[in-house]
Amino acid sequence: DNFDDMNLKEELLRGIYAYGFEKPSAIQQRAIIPCVKGHDVIAQAQSGTGKTATFSIAILQQIDTSVKECQALILAPTRELAQQIQKVVIALGDFMAAQCHACIGGTNVREDIRKLDTGVHVVVGTPGRVYDMINRGSLRTKYIKIFVLDEADEMLSRGFKDQIHDVFKMIGRGGRFGRKGVAINFVTEDDKRTLKDIEQFYNT
Ligand code: AMP
Repeated sequence: DNFDDMNLKEELLRGIYAYGFEKPSAIQQRAIIPCVKGHDVIAQAQSGTGKTATFSIAILQQIDTSVKECQALILAPTRELAQQIQKVVIALGDFMAAQCHACIGGTNVREDIRKLDTGVHVVVGTPGRVYDMINRGSLRTKYIKIFVLDEADEMLSRGFKDQIHDVFKMIGRGGRFGRKGVAINFVTEDDKRTLKDIEQFYNT
């Protein structure tokens, strides 16, 4: 299998190769296309297997950069991870002028608001700050079509459950998110409890 066979945008392919990837990893071969097609995906893979690029590529393929609105939201358990993901999205999206902003705690709120006002395409953040930005109306959710919960097991065990649920509900204003768009959960371990938790999310 090859990135060339995935029907990806030319500028995105350029970004992938410029980043140094030659062939898709196993998880990328299995998950990129279902994610791009808009399926709900729960991918379980050890860290180091290329899951960040999996959802980053799927997101970049789906966004329309001529629309200056947030079209993809990624939640991550730590600030550091959110920033790492942001770097990957920016690097892979280098040739398509994709704007990606990290909404994380411990940074200037005004700066977040200002940046979001410029119309970023992808937002990656920790649940608390993302919730705050949606609540203030700075992060508009109307155009979000793809949602990623990275390290879902970690997220759900860290006491983020209520916050994630709140974000879910806000994304799904005017209908439950599960019916409105795509939800992707990336789980690091083969963990039945996490899968159960995720299922519950979509059923409440
Ligand atoms: P991750 O599992 O997302 O933390 O990625 C682990 C490492 O693998 C990172 O350094 C990525 O840049 C690298 N990587 C991801 N996908 C590929 C690929 N298709 N080819 C080569 N390296 C990759």
